[in-house]
Amino acid sequence: MRAKKKPVPAEPTKGLVCPKCECRHFHVVEVSPLPEGKIRRRRECRHCGFRISTTEAAANDPARNV
Ligand SMILES: [Zn+2]
Repeated sequence: MRAKKKPVPAEPTKGLVCPKCECRHFHVVEVSPLPEGKIRRRRECRHCGFRISTTEAAANDPARNV
C-alpha cells in the first residue's frame, strides 16, 4: 500500500477570496493596530478593487497572556 497524498482542502483561513471576482489576489492597503493586541488589515482586490478588512491577532508571543 502506498501512501497517497491527502486531498488538500481549499485553503482554510488564510485564503481570502474576493466575493466579487473570486480571485485571491489581495494586497494590503492599510494596517491599523487595535487594542487587545490585534491588528486590522485593509485589503484590496487587485482585480476589481473590492475592499475587505480583516482583524487578526498580532503575531506576537503566543505564550504571553496579555
Ligand atoms: Zn476581486
